[in-house]
Amino acid sequence: MKEKIISIVESYGKDAYRLMDILSCVQSEFGCVSVEAVGVIAEQLHISEVDVIQTRSFYHFYTCRPVGKYAVYLNNSVVSCMMGMADVADEFEKQLGISFGESTPDALASLHYTACIGMSDQEPAAIINDVVFTSLTRDKVKNIIAGMRAGKAVAEMVTEYGDGNNANPLIKAMVKNNIKKTGPVIFDAHQTGAGLAKALGMEPKSVIGEIKESNLRGRGGAGFPTGLKWDFCSRESGDKYVLCNADEGEPGTFKDRVLMTERSEMLFEGMAIGGYAIGAKEGILYVRKEYKYLKAFLENTLKEMYGKNLLGKNILGKGIDFDIRIQFGAGAYVCGEESGLIESCEGKRGEPRNRPPFPAQKGYKSKPSIVNNVETFCSVARILDKGGAWHNALGTKESSGTKVISVSGDCKAPGIYEIQWGMSIQEMLDMVGAEDVQAVQVAGPSGICLPPSQFDRKIALEDLPTGGSMIVIGKKRDLIKDVVLNFMDFFADESCGSCVTCRSFNMILKKAIEKVVEGNAIKKDLENMLAWSEILRKTTRCGLGQTSSNPVATTISNFRELYDARVHDQDYHSEFDMHKAVLESCEVVGREPKVHE
Ligand code: SF4
Repeated sequence: MKEKIISIVESYGKDAYRLMDILSCVQSEFGCVSVEAVGVIAEQLHISEVDVIQTRSFYHFYTCRPVGKYAVYLNNSVVSCMMGMADVADEFEKQLGISFGESTPDALASLHYTACIGMSDQEPAAIINDVVFTSLTRDKVKNIIAGMRAGKAVAEMVTEYGDGNNANPLIKAMVKNNIKKTGPVIFDAHQTGAGLAKALGMEPKSVIGEIKESNLRGRGGAGFPTGLKWDFCSRESGDKYVLCNADEGEPGTFKDRVLMTERSEMLFEGMAIGGYAIGAKEGILYVRKEYKYLKAFLENTLKEMYGKNLLGKNILGKGIDFDIRIQFGAGAYVCGEESGLIESCEGKRGEPRNRPPFPAQKGYKSKPSIVNNVETFCSVARILDKGGAWHNALGTKESSGTKVISVSGDCKAPGIYEIQWGMSIQEMLDMVGAEDVQAVQVAGPSGICLPPSQFDRKIALEDLPTGGSMIVIGKKRDLIKDVVLNFMDFFADESCGSCVTCRSFNMILKKAIEKVVEGNAIKKDLENMLAWSEILRKTTRCGLGQTSSNPVATTISNFRELYDARVHDQDYHSEFDMHKAVLESCEVVGREPKVHE
């Protein structure tokens, strides 16, 4: 084992910044990162074992004990549960004779639950040894287990491939794109390199000016003006970096999956344009581990772009250099937060940093860096080709261009839609064939749960900002039990634990929702939950804590009648007598009770 780990560490140049890659290789080679492996890695990288352990223990997909030869990670997020996850889980347990969280005695298989894997349009879904299985049924589970018992490679168990590049020999995934609506920015025809060629013919300042004129705002959800971010970073000196955030972990979102499958060249082109604009020579595409099945394909796209001289040295003969590498995560929602992502790229726990300084001043390796989302970089390539004014003319006043949304849940046509900003929620519901709708969860769990009375609101940064997740919740669902409880369980699990309030209040709110579901809550509990939500929002360091109480707060506010129907009016009556208890305890320890005036 030691020799193998040494060769893994050497393949990453004994660079501690590449600890994530090293741990991923060790995990996949040995089924875990054992105590012995930690020792060897630490010794080879000249860092402490604690440094290795703290990264290993942070991410869901690293384990200290071996997983099974076939490690099944079944998605237990809201949409998966809506689409029949419980039956699929039951069949896995029956077939293997173990429960989730366990391995078979012969180490053939292990069962694990995991958060949203970016397949909400084709749930229930699971990942087995990096291979994705979608639209699972009891029969499909039986076939998978039969394949395991026959010793098949997991890839051999996938016999049908999805559409578009999902069938590419370098992907061969059963995943479907489900692109239901294309628009002029992202899914229209684009000649690879056209935007980059135009950018390199301009001064870097003018490229930033073009992005400013386009009024492009970050597509990850926060909506920060891209041109302004680049402008700040361009004013800094020294080495700089371009980071692309492809860690879409918000339950219900899956647009980056499709963009990386069908628009990978456009994405890398946008990153190269960003590098030229701010004066960076290196870029990193940070991809969530759940999309590891795209690795060979993305690497090949990079290779082809190097071959066409769109990346690498002296790009298009203009004397500009720019390299891109791909960094995979290992399962941590908080790495979608830009400073958490930077920490992860550096091989550390993905704990968000205090700000300021902002990444534009001090980012990757403490150097000025821009972090933008996949859709943002794809938009950049189109903007440089078609012009900032062209982009600004699309959409609404504050939200220019188009938005790619991921629609899932109770509707006839879940999938990817490139829409014009400004579309109302009702128009969206009509578009996706949703009827008898109880609520729409806009922007995922960290967003807002909208009731029908607000379906006239617009999908736009000035009204309903979103990174793209839209979950349709039908009338037959138990909103509090099926949705809010699941979301709070997710946040309690995903909090990085740095802030006391985030660490504790997410768990407290989850317990409070359980109390409501079990019929043990009183009206005062609802007031407490709203107060705790506010404390959580105001006292946490990053967006996770600032928004994680939204499922509770927005449903109490917009669906109060559902809570009122489940809580008791009367207050608790306790027969506990503090004074009497103190007297009794004093008697036990033989001490005189103190009498307070
Ligand atoms: Fe970590 Fe939560 Fe604090 Fe964010 S708010 S830094 S996730 S503890």
